[in-house]
Amino acid sequence: MAEEFDIIIIGSGAGGGTLAHTLAPTGKRILILERGGFLPAESAAGEPPRMPGTGRYGCAETWYDAHGRPFSPAAHYFVGGATKLYEAALSRLRPMDFASIGHIDGASPAWPFSYAEFEPWYDKAEWLYQVHGKHGEDPTEGSWSQEYLWPPVTHEPMVQQLADELTLAGYQPFHTPTGVMLDELNGPGHAKADADVIAIRPLLNMLNVTLLVDAEVTRLQTDPRGRSVTGVVVNHAGSREVYRGGVVVLAAGAVNSARILLGSACDAHPDGLGNGSGQVGRNLMCHNHTAVTCVVRESEHAVVQETLCVNDFYLGGRDARWPLGSIQLLGGPHADSPDRGTPAPVPRQRDSVTHDGAAVGFRLTTEDLPRPGNRVTIDGHGRVRLAHLATGDAAARLLYRSLRAMLSGTRMMARNAAQAIGPARPSGRPGPADYAGTCRLGADPATSVLDLTCRAHELDNLYVVDASFFPSIGAVSPALTIMANAIRVGEHVAARLGCSPSPSEVALPRQPAPGVMECAAGITRHG
Ligand SMILES: Cc1cc2nc3c(=O)[nH]c(=O)nc-3n(C[C@H](O)[C@H](O)[C@H](O)COP(=O)(O)OP(=O)(O)OC[C@H]3O[C@@H](n4cnc5c(N)ncnc54)[C@H](O)[C@@H]3O)c2cc1C
Repeated sequence: MAEEFDIIIIGSGAGGGTLAHTLAPTGKRILILERGGFLPAESAAGEPPRMPGTGRYGCAETWYDAHGRPFSPAAHYFVGGATKLYEAALSRLRPMDFASIGHIDGASPAWPFSYAEFEPWYDKAEWLYQVHGKHGEDPTEGSWSQEYLWPPVTHEPMVQQLADELTLAGYQPFHTPTGVMLDELNGPGHAKADADVIAIRPLLNMLNVTLLVDAEVTRLQTDPRGRSVTGVVVNHAGSREVYRGGVVVLAAGAVNSARILLGSACDAHPDGLGNGSGQVGRNLMCHNHTAVTCVVRESEHAVVQETLCVNDFYLGGRDARWPLGSIQLLGGPHADSPDRGTPAPVPRQRDSVTHDGAAVGFRLTTEDLPRPGNRVTIDGHGRVRLAHLATGDAAARLLYRSLRAMLSGTRMMARNAAQAIGPARPSGRPGPADYAGTCRLGADPATSVLDLTCRAHELDNLYVVDASFFPSIGAVSPALTIMANAIRVGEHVAARLGCSPSPSEVALPRQPAPGVMECAAGITRHG
């Protein structure tokens, strides 16, 4: 007899962890199924990746590209998901990202609701993840309900100098909104606000919450008519187990959620669960990232550089007719390494001094459009195949030109701009956490997988709350939008179950996480 829960959440990352945090105060019995374990904090965290192609914190999985060529996906399977590795830049999408926008490569579709309608959940997510920032600095930002509760992370002198010079030249640089438990007045003790530390750990003493680690969901079972999910099949540390939940929420990330749905095909859903529209796995999007390294005078060296962003070209601006994207300082040459596999506690120590000056890294992000042919499929053996041809290359080139023009006026370059500003190089192969859009939400079941509450159009008790739901991805980091949406959906699920959650009932961590967490395998049942 399978064990029964009120709510089963598959995945504990930005979406799943935040959803669990939202629902835990309802007192409903919640099971969180997480494929990975806890990521130990370790001194080696800053070392270069050890596993070629996967990064130190990757996994040994093999996926296949559109031509059937194998590759390592650099997936990060941990409690907290990819937020254990993220840089915690927690930005809102711009209001125009919720509308249809014309890009060089075509139109980005509108969301079924507006920025203003979604804004209250941004506010809640910023509070939960302790985002440090300052509203009003970024010219492209939408309205906000209240100022950030925490001030922006202070720029190091070199970054402040760059901000000042750009401001003088008429640009509008702003502080990167950053999720970090940081007390600049009272000494160190900083720690990254990720889904493990912020959302999951405060739940571990709650009697109604069970976290099962080393628990990979392999399939969802339905009733014979295929109207609701009746069983969640799990490979738990090598043994097959089945759990039942009144509500089942997929939050395994955009690739793995699609993979689970496609792999759960049955008589009632021959093309995959909830895939009557044929949209599951399609519209795969991944930001088009370009890295640029510049050399500044060594005296300008700064360790923490990612505190500064520029969105002056987000909508085009200056000479460009088309939306181009965002620019963020990223640090030295290691900042955007192809593996992207080293964790990025914020702020972090990095060696970015080179033989002829100090390195400053910039990450240029342009929007990738949802294309039906960009998709996740699985083969007869359940292996993942990713077909993805990025859009946004022309915008990326124009954004690079805009960056050069912007920086060439600054005094801090070690030499003249032509030598000091390096070439644009594409970031390495994206990992699963970079993807979005494989189960997009929409009002029309013929063209979308999820309704506006992120419930599958075709299944009464199945929700998806990870990056899959994005109809379009914009050109800012996605995690805050995933978190905000998870709170939104959590409130809906609570109401559906006759409860009203109050996030304040769950204690928020105010202290850094313990230095070393033990890797847990097996059931972690607390209380
Ligand atoms: C190096 C790096 C830096 C980044 N920096 C930023 C940043 O600064 N700002 C930003 O906004 N975004 C950033 N991102 C992206 C951000 O982390 C992701 O967009 C976000 O975490 C995605 O949330 P998610 O819920 O979709 O998936 P995840 O957070 O990855 O969570 C998915 C969870 O599901 C689990 N899982 C997968 N398959 C199964 C299964 N079959 N059964 C059970 N569990 C499963 C995984 O282990 C994981 O815990 C970064 C990502 C990386 C890798």
